[in-house]
Amino acid sequence: MEQPRYRGRFAPSPTGPLHFGSLVTALASWLEARAAGGDWLVRIEDLDPLREPPEATGQILHSLERHGLQPDEPVRYQSQRHAAYQAAIDQLLGRGKAYYCRCSRKQLKASGGYHPAHCRQGTPATGDTPCAVRFALHNEQSHWHDELLGWQHQAVHEELDDPVLLRKEGFFAYQLAVVVDDIDQAITHVVRGSDLLPMTAQQQQIYRALGAEPPHWLHVPVLLNDKGQKLSKQTHAPALNDNRPAANLTAALSALGQQPPASLANESVACVLAWAQAHWQRQHIPLTSRQYTHDV
Ligand code: GLU
Repeated sequence: MEQPRYRGRFAPSPTGPLHFGSLVTALASWLEARAAGGDWLVRIEDLDPLREPPEATGQILHSLERHGLQPDEPVRYQSQRHAAYQAAIDQLLGRGKAYYCRCSRKQLKASGGYHPAHCRQGTPATGDTPCAVRFALHNEQSHWHDELLGWQHQAVHEELDDPVLLRKEGFFAYQLAVVVDDIDQAITHVVRGSDLLPMTAQQQQIYRALGAEPPHWLHVPVLLNDKGQKLSKQTHAPALNDNRPAANLTAALSALGQQPPASLANESVACVLAWAQAHWQRQHIPLTSRQYTHDV
């Protein structure tokens, strides 16, 4: 059977400007898509306005552009996709794959952190008390292959609680939206940070519950700061300096285990990206998270 055309994506949550760790992930997904002769998309996962400074989306898109990482299709915004997420929730509820959750923290604790049967088989929402919608995970030993890290295993019920699809505050949750959009955009390959590795087995169940086959996965080990924490907004990773994109890209290539000549940092962005495409070796990406200090 003919393989579908490769379609990859970079899907940042706009909780702040791009930092070096997110550039590394974006670059890896862009290079994988280019190496396969496929499409590379950008999707802004703006689901939670309370955590998203209004300027962050513009900053992220500006940074990507400055670093020459141009999507092949118009940018998609999850804030404009609520009808699709609601339709997916209705479908999952209708198939008995999701349920309205009214558990209090106390009840949840009393049942060892898992959702008790009376909650899973509960009655539909009445509209008077706000409640969450959760996905009903089925217990399985999940084995799946990561294109960089090799075979992965998760004992789903032992390790995970039923993920929230709709938060009781009314916001659609990441676990739902990421799968609905990856299906809708016909994404064949997900390249993302290894902090999301533990989410993969449950996302595969959501894919299948929505009648789709999961994509291929490649998790790039996240970068750590000098305290051993993941570079992120929460750990105060500094914003990328958009005025030195070639130097940032050259450093990102080194973080990905490629061996760019130091002089590349002084070339144009187009030149760095051309070198990167010509020399890209996925198997040189380091397999474990490491400290990586880069003067941004
Ligand atoms: N929006 C998620 C994040 O910024 C990434 C989603 C994904 O790549 O699956 O962490």
